[in-house]
Amino acid sequence: MPCEVKPRFVVLYGSQKGQAQSIAEGIAEEAEGHGLIAELSCLNQNEKYNLEKENAPVVFIVSTTGDGEPPDNALQFVKRIKKKTLPNDHYKHLCYALLALGDTNYANFCNCGKTIERHLQELGAKQFYATGYADDGVGLEVVVDPWLEGLWKAIKAALSKMASDRTAPSKGGVGDSPKETPDSYTPDVQLNLLSLGDHQNCESIKTSVNTDSKYASAASSSASATQTAVSELRPASPAGSLGLASQSRGTASISTSAPETQTQDAGFPHLTLAGSLTCSLPPLSESSLNVPALPPPYLDVSLQDVGTMKQIVGQFNKETVHEVPINRALQLTSGDSVKTALLLELDISAYPTMAYQPGDSFDVFCPNKATEVDGMLHRLGLQDQRNDHVHVSLKKDNKKKGAQVPSYIPQNISLLYLLTWCLEIRSVPKKAFLRALVEHTGDSVQRRRLQELCSKQGGADYNQYVRDPSLSVLELLTAFPSCQPPLSLLIEHLPKLQPRPYSAASSCLKHPGKVHFVFNVVEFPACSGRPAGRRGLCTGWLFDLINPGLVFPGKAECSGSLTLPKIHVSLRPNCSFRPPSDLSVPFIMVGPGTGVAPFIGFLQQRENERQENPDAVFGETWLFFGCRHRDRDYLFREELEGFVCSGTLSHLKVCFSRDDQEQEEGKEVATSVSQPRYVQHNLLLNSQHVTEILLKQNGYLYVCGDAKNMAKDVNDTLIEMIKTELQVDQLEAMKTLAGLREQKRYLQDIWG
Ligand code: FAD
Repeated sequence: MPCEVKPRFVVLYGSQKGQAQSIAEGIAEEAEGHGLIAELSCLNQNEKYNLEKENAPVVFIVSTTGDGEPPDNALQFVKRIKKKTLPNDHYKHLCYALLALGDTNYANFCNCGKTIERHLQELGAKQFYATGYADDGVGLEVVVDPWLEGLWKAIKAALSKMASDRTAPSKGGVGDSPKETPDSYTPDVQLNLLSLGDHQNCESIKTSVNTDSKYASAASSSASATQTAVSELRPASPAGSLGLASQSRGTASISTSAPETQTQDAGFPHLTLAGSLTCSLPPLSESSLNVPALPPPYLDVSLQDVGTMKQIVGQFNKETVHEVPINRALQLTSGDSVKTALLLELDISAYPTMAYQPGDSFDVFCPNKATEVDGMLHRLGLQDQRNDHVHVSLKKDNKKKGAQVPSYIPQNISLLYLLTWCLEIRSVPKKAFLRALVEHTGDSVQRRRLQELCSKQGGADYNQYVRDPSLSVLELLTAFPSCQPPLSLLIEHLPKLQPRPYSAASSCLKHPGKVHFVFNVVEFPACSGRPAGRRGLCTGWLFDLINPGLVFPGKAECSGSLTLPKIHVSLRPNCSFRPPSDLSVPFIMVGPGTGVAPFIGFLQQRENERQENPDAVFGETWLFFGCRHRDRDYLFREELEGFVCSGTLSHLKVCFSRDDQEQEEGKEVATSVSQPRYVQHNLLLNSQHVTEILLKQNGYLYVCGDAKNMAKDVNDTLIEMIKTELQVDQLEAMKTLAGLREQKRYLQDIWG
């Protein structure tokens, strides 16, 4: 009997936080249902794939990290394909599709994906499906879902094209002939996207659901966590998941959290229901839903009582992570300012390997909050087993492609340790996780609401009630009391608890054996599903740690006062965010708020260099700083003014966004322009100097701080300035700025 061989294709991923990996794994799991075999590898497992000889379609899923860098596990691959010695037909045989993940809040959106694509094309590879650029800033799924929907048709088309090319060798490789470029059968992902919000196209989505649901029932056990449109769900009751329905069924937990407004009409009170985390409104509550397929469970977890396990603090890599004392803790803002900024001084003198340069940052390792770990233990019904040994293994015959026990879960740990040091229990649940939680939720109204939140139709509610307020898993479980997930599900879905980086705000030339860093205590306000506000995980933890020994502005530090605790840190060198090595080159620093941190280090170093080299020629230094109020949150004011007095800082430009009447610091700017409120306004006021330094004097510009608004606004302002100064159009100005970035003379260190 002839044996049918399924066509194969290759899936390669480069992933920093696991999102690209999980999408790639989803594709691999889906493949069988489409009659295909996927060979899945991480880009750094180059022994598992061979692009030089690959004659099947290759699908790349790659994220971007830091300032447009490839994820760690894609670094070597990117290096390899960038080699100038490769001939330009090196990948002529290769047929690829690429999904790039990025975040438009950061510069260099999807840069890793774009770099890989550029080099693949320069080396002759042919695209068989339009590249998707997914933006975590607005929700990856907006692009990922339609891209995945179109992928299968594209792979099949590419496979048949490649097969027919092989049987007709005279035609050459895929896409050689202009008429047969892969684009001619490439489904356009942009068109797919445009159709999503469009009423007419809702019909086509429904049609596709019906078709897909036939397939879903056959393939649901192996279906992907990322694939949508696989099953159609209807509301549990005519009133759907409205609080009203839940009230009539007596599920108080849902009805009480649904905000209601009472209106009076002819003496009859009406209940006008407002939507909330647990309560939806029409049309969503009455809509059919397309939910993601159920992610296949793949871990077995058992708990064993082995007597009390003594693991209180994290098991860190002893070569790179060091426990260091906090020497000093100062509050830099006054009590009535909106944000609380703190400065910590760490004593790193015992660890010479931690010698740092201005521009470097330090990772701070923090545990999850004890009360939340406790809450989670209770929620899982495992409070009495907190000290049990956790054993995690792969399920036999699990359906997840490339399934692995998470590498960040060490052997021999207790349950308490797992929840305290290994899993980010504050993480915002992804839609695949919500989908999995549905299976463990008893109450039908709550099930329906969870289905809505992970459905295509409920995307806006998911953003409003889960993603935007950064709702944590524990908060979600508290709001859905009938949801009782097993521990294994949490381990499958919760990401690794990551250390938080902080920029060094000092130079070890000025503070030998010490490092300073500055941070704002992050505050999350109360919201639907979060009855009271809470602090950021690391900043809240640090705040609690140092609070008894905190020194307030204007208060003298009393020596020999409270001893502050030790914390675990490791050095994160940043080899490009450094002051110019040529001392005569001018540079500009833009760092509002805590973004000023690395520039304090730059200036302390410069001050030292000036003292050591009295005859040297030093380039001009500019600092653009901004805060709300001159007298409440002007960080490092005395030190900055001291730098100006000593000549270390040539120009200090400060603006106050909430002190409307006050004049700008130093009064150096022209008064004809309205009062600058933000750093970009001050940049604009000094446009000629700034562009002269960047475009004529080979100078540098550094931006540090808030990624969400400031970095983008500064970038846009720089483009405007270049347009005006060079009299060029937008595109030309953007190219000029991109050139500066490539030369590493326009550098960003941004977060948020
Ligand atoms: P989490 O509990 O992790 O919550 C963070 C969430 O809060 C984010 O998802 C975001 O949506 C939101 N958020 C609100 N405000 C902020 C904010 N100001 N920063 C980050 N997230 C915010 N922070 C500093 O204050 N000073 C620094 O010098 C500094 N240097 C950094 C250097 C690098 C290279 C990077 C990547 C980040 C840096 N950060 C810095 C940010 C810092 O690492 C943490 O992300 C921040 O302190 C919040 O941590 P958390 O655990 O308290 O908040």
